[in-house]
Amino acid sequence: MRKKLVVGNWKMHGSRAANAALLGALREAGPWSADVAVCVPFPYLAETALALTGQAVMLGAQDCSAHEQGAFTGEVSSAMLADLGCRYVLVGHSERRAFHHESDQLVADKAKAALAHGVTPIVCVGETLAEREAGQTEVVVKRQLAAVIHTLTHCIGEIVLAYEPVWAIGTGLTASPEQAQAVHAVLRTQLHAASQKSASMRILYGGSVKPDNAAQLFAQPDIDGGLIGGAALKAADFAAICRAA
Ligand code: 13P
Repeated sequence: MRKKLVVGNWKMHGSRAANAALLGALREAGPWSADVAVCVPFPYLAETALALTGQAVMLGAQDCSAHEQGAFTGEVSSAMLADLGCRYVLVGHSERRAFHHESDQLVADKAKAALAHGVTPIVCVGETLAEREAGQTEVVVKRQLAAVIHTLTHCIGEIVLAYEPVWAIGTGLTASPEQAQAVHAVLRTQLHAASQKSASMRILYGGSVKPDNAAQLFAQPDIDGGLIGGAALKAADFAAICRAA
């Protein structure tokens, strides 16, 4: 039995005051039976780590460098994330793949760097609307995951996977539970061929998850929780989604 995991991705939102209010409200709303984490912008990691002291909510970041250290201006290493108490880091979010031209191989290298420092990478995969309409969904997500499997080899069982169809992100268009489950099953099968741990690996769904659709999505056999964008910025909504998991 896999324990559900709900992760809030704050993206480039927040301020010290807004974060304090949100985290304070979450403290009141929890705890939940699911594992819960928030992936916050880099500048707020240290302060959020302090705010989460004694709480069950875990800390995560939204990206990391594939490099260990060195002359990489503006990048943040996974060693730094570990130093700040991060349990998770998102890698390969579609916004980074699209706006920062991250390749499948770079995403895989970032996942490897995170694992090397004990930070669990949440590897995001997902197809665009054009790819779905062209019948390419399976091909795309399998290609994205294959790069990670190839690079991590025997460590693949340590990652969390997140299926986020690009057309469902921030659009209000959610994949139906059946659509999401179908892709999760494909991903589980691919993991099964690569790792003995596949049955215990968590695969999250992300893309317009809201309090009113979360329970149905989380009830699918291969959906082990959610990666939440917009709704993670509202304490009442995020708490309701955590309760549904
Ligand atoms: P929304 O929940 O706002 O659609 O965002 C999903 C997402 O990209 C989480 O990483």
